[in-house]
Parts: sequence; C-alpha cells; structure tokens
Amino acid sequence: MKKSIILILLLACSVTAYNQDNLKTQIESAVAAIENEHYEIYKDLHTHPEVSLMEIETAKKMAMHLEDIGFDVTRSFSANSLVGVLENGEGPVIMMRTDMDALPIKEQTGLPYASKVIMKDASGSEVPAMHACGHDMHMTLWLGTLNTLVTLKDKWSGTIIAVAQQAEEISGGAKRMTEDGLFEQFPVPAYALAYHVNAELPAGSVGYYPGPIFGGVSSVDIHIHGYGGHGAMPHTTIDPVVIASRIVLAIQTLVSREIEPFQPAVVTVGSIHGGSKHNVIPDRVDLQLTVRFFSDEVYEQIISGLKRITRGVGLSAGLPEDRLPEVIPLEGVTPPVANDPALVNKAILSMEEMLGTGNIHKVNPSTVGEDFGMYGRTKENVPIALFWLGAVGKEKYDDHIKNSTPLPGLHNAAFHPDFYPTFRGGAAAMTKTMIDLFNGKLE
Ligand SMILES: [Zn+2]
Ligand SMILES: [Zn+2]
Repeated sequence: MKKSIILILLLACSVTAYNQDNLKTQIESAVAAIENEHYEIYKDLHTHPEVSLMEIETAKKMAMHLEDIGFDVTRSFSANSLVGVLENGEGPVIMMRTDMDALPIKEQTGLPYASKVIMKDASGSEVPAMHACGHDMHMTLWLGTLNTLVTLKDKWSGTIIAVAQQAEEISGGAKRMTEDGLFEQFPVPAYALAYHVNAELPAGSVGYYPGPIFGGVSSVDIHIHGYGGHGAMPHTTIDPVVIASRIVLAIQTLVSREIEPFQPAVVTVGSIHGGSKHNVIPDRVDLQLTVRFFSDEVYEQIISGLKRITRGVGLSAGLPEDRLPEVIPLEGVTPPVANDPALVNKAILSMEEMLGTGNIHKVNPSTVGEDFGMYGRTKENVPIALFWLGAVGKEKYDDHIKNSTPLPGLHNAAFHPDFYPTFRGGAAAMTKTMIDLFNGKLE
C-alpha cells in the first residue's frame, strides 16, 4: 500500500517536472519562431526613432502589431500612449508596459540601420533622434512576449493589459496615463511588469532588486538674491556670487552628514548662472540641482534641508527676510520605482527556471530615474516589478571583463543592444513569468 502511494507521488512529481520542461521548450521554440520577424520590427523602430511626445508613427506601429495578434486596441488613450487588451478566460489581470520614446542624440553606432533622423521636438526645435536608451528593444520584447503568450494561449488563462507609453524620457507619460484613468477605464491589474535594457549585463540575462530599484528624480531651482553694484566697491553690495558659492559647499553636507548612511541619496548642483561682466556685482544668481532619492521621507528631508541651509547662509550674509534665497522644487517629480519585493521574488523563480541561475543577477539599486514607478502609486496600489535585461553581446562583454574596455552606457550615442540574445532571453523569461503568474503557480 505504502509503496503504491510513493509510486503515485513519484509519478505526479515527474509529470509536473515534465510539464515544466515541456513548457520551457515550448516557450523557447515559440520565441525562436518569431525572432527573425522581430529583428525586422526592431531595425525599423531603431532607424525611425521619435523623441518624447512625438511618438506618432511609433504608436501606430505598436497598435497595428497588437491588432495583428488579436488584441483589442485603444489608440491615443493618453495622447500617443495606447492600451491593448486580450481576454483569455478566467484569471488574473496582468499588465506589461513598454515605453516608446527616443532621445535627442545624434547616433554614432555605425550600424547599417543607424538612425539619421532629424525631427522637430515637442517645442518645435529641430533635434537629432536616436534610440539610445533601448526603448526600441523594449517595444520589440513587449511585442515578442505578447506574441508568444498568444501562441501559447492554451497554457494560461486571464487578461493581458498591454501598455505602450509615450514620454518616459521626460517623465510624463506614466503619470498622464494614470491621470487619464488607465485603471478606471481598463481592468485593474494584479501585477504590472516591465523591462529596462542594461548596458553592463550580458545579453539576455536578468538583473533584479526586490525593492526600490530606480531612484526618484526631482529638479530644484534655487534663486539667490543680493544687492548688486560696482565690482570695485563690494562693501556697498550683498554679493550673491559669494552667497551662491557658500550654498554650493554648504549643501554638500546634506547627504554626507544628515541622511542616514544606508539611505541612498544624491544632491548635485548641475548649473550655476549669474552676472554679466568682470566689474559688476549682480543682483541674482541661479542654481539648478538634481536630487535623487529612494523614499519619500528622504526626499522631504532633502528639500527641507535645502530650505534651511540656504536661509541660514542668506541670513549670515545679511539679507533681509524678503530677499532670502528661494528653493523651488519643479513640477513633475519622478517617484522611485518601488518594486514589490514579493512579486520580484516570485518572478525570479520563473525567470531562473527559464534562463538558469547563472543568468539571474541580484543588482544594486540605481540612481537613474524611470517613470514606471507611477503605476504603483495610484490608489489601486498595483504591485509593480521592473527588471533590468542585459543587452551586452558576449564578445564585448568578455573584452570588457578581460581588458577593461569601456562599454557605452545608456544615453550614449554608441549604445546598442545585441539583438538576438537580448530578445531570446528577455521574451522567454517574461513569457514564463506571466504564464506562471496567470496560473497561480507562484502563489
Ligand atoms: Zn533613458
Ligand atoms: Zn529608458
């Protein structure tokens, strides 16, 4: 009796293992079957980039490809952003997002399909355009994953919300989508997933962090007022150039002396402007800062610290109350991408099964910004997870490790992903994750 129970258990285990292996092989062959067609899609997107808020043709292409594989598409849902829905029976709703915009950079990759585009940006200025942040790869992976999920439709049930978003680079697209009612007009997802290509990890491997993976970004202006006058008679003035210099140095202690050491933060003064001539003390100097943070509390601490320090320096220089420095955080703060730890840990199990543990890397959080975090900050509290996807070809990666040859980073005019391994690994890992989430395998 006992023996037969053990036998049944063993049989059940091996059937499960067989089904898993079987699924892995099916995903691999479904991805392999579409890789060449998707390379053509990728090259077309790469050659024809469109900068933020101008993603008109790109959005049309995304809508067309989604409709081709059976999605119900709402075009121009939120300016250029669009939403595709595919219902496939009972089950969870899962959102997958891609961004669509390129950068005003003149491409220098030397690729045969390099962009030569010069276009008008949203303010009407002529700019070069290049997919230097890999959003062309994101779109291709997004289409490839959705395509594979459609091919393997009998392996899962639930609803896919496919979001193609404009204006990530200027951090406006995600916020606008949520304000325009993404989660009111479409089913609220149980999970929202996205990739960002990575210019340091081997192509097709995944980088994860179970917590805030990308920092929040805020631009802050500081206006420093003084009393101008003759450069030869400084005693008749209050010199804002000197006050500005003190402020630049004084705020260096904000992160180093005030923020808890295990809370990452950055305060950088990127620009300082004042004065017009050697012998004139100006009335005003302006500073422009970028602030990076991983929690709302740290952000509040930085802004109130900037206000306190600039006020103190102003008072010590003898400025009256009505001329003290003004600290102005600009509109459009990008929040951190606060990955849901439970969702990341679940997804990584699926990705490991698909790619092997050697292709899954736990990474440190990065201070770059990404507006995907907005989707996790609405009242619906959607758990989100963004993963890095390595895009560096084997030869380049080995050369980098062996000879310390620098790798062009994101936003560099020479950056481009190694298409095939990036596509294969990325589409397979995301497909497996979504199927497992749909099937509740990861509960
Ligand atoms: Zn970027
Ligand atoms: Zn990007």
